[in-house]
Amino acid sequence: MERFHGKTIVVTGASSGIGEGIARRFAAEGANVVLAARRKDRLDALAAELGAQRTLAVATDVTQPEEVEAAIQATVDRFGGIDVLVSNAGVGLGKEFEETTLADWRLIMSTDVDSCFFGAQAALPHLKLSQGTIIAIASASGLGGDRKLSAYNAAKGAVVNFTRGLAFDLGQFGIRVNTVAPSLTVNDEQAAIPEYGRLIERFNERRAMSGYATPADIAGAVTFLASDDARFITGTVLPVDGGITAGSGQPDLF
Ligand code: NDP
Repeated sequence: MERFHGKTIVVTGASSGIGEGIARRFAAEGANVVLAARRKDRLDALAAELGAQRTLAVATDVTQPEEVEAAIQATVDRFGGIDVLVSNAGVGLGKEFEETTLADWRLIMSTDVDSCFFGAQAALPHLKLSQGTIIAIASASGLGGDRKLSAYNAAKGAVVNFTRGLAFDLGQFGIRVNTVAPSLTVNDEQAAIPEYGRLIERFNERRAMSGYATPADIAGAVTFLASDDARFITGTVLPVDGGITAGSGQPDLF
């Protein structure tokens, strides 16, 4: 199925993990895909694999507004416009609050939150023309609190509510804005590593379903929200977490 034939998608953080999975899925569905992250060698390799004609790799630090603007401009220069912005680039940090430094806090806020602001600002004129859509990758950690993740909780909570507010501001232009909230997401190779296996088991104690999400699962939710099937869906948060955020967080009681 080529739902995105002729459409142009920008994916930040496309050099690994979830962003790479999202880029692969859009490419498989016919889109022009712009890969933005700092590790240009990885972007170039992915672009070559996906096909040079319909991909563009742009070295981008999403914490720098002028670099985000340059990536958006490069997209328009190459493909003539933008239909979908996926703000996926992000970092997490597990640390006791007492050990969390100002530099840690600023790194997380700039990478996870500022990047969404910069992307939306830069893409807006072009999304107005295409009546396009923005999708941010938040986290289950943006929907509640976690041990040793208060900075990340704050950042992803900001992403969730930024996209909700933005949906109201941009709806007048026919632009939809949504968020996908994964919990632990690993590829099959990672899942086979004992350390990850134990982590997955601990998550499964709190999920409605057992198993784990892969980048392809997150990409499925993102492409749905980007598609015409979601044409009246905006301002929403779609958890892809096997039901973990549907729970009350209590241990098995009976
Ligand atoms: P990875 O570490 O595999 O990928 C992170 C991506 O973000 C990389 O492509 C990296 O590229 C990019 N990135 C980081 N900093 C910057 C920067 N300053 N400028 C540009 N790009 C940057 O992580 P995941 O795939 O796991 O995470 C992707 C998103 O999903 C993140 O927002 C994360 O918070 C979220 N998430 C992930 C979960 C998981 O379990 N995997 C669960 C919930 C949410 P490069 O280093 O080349 O710049």
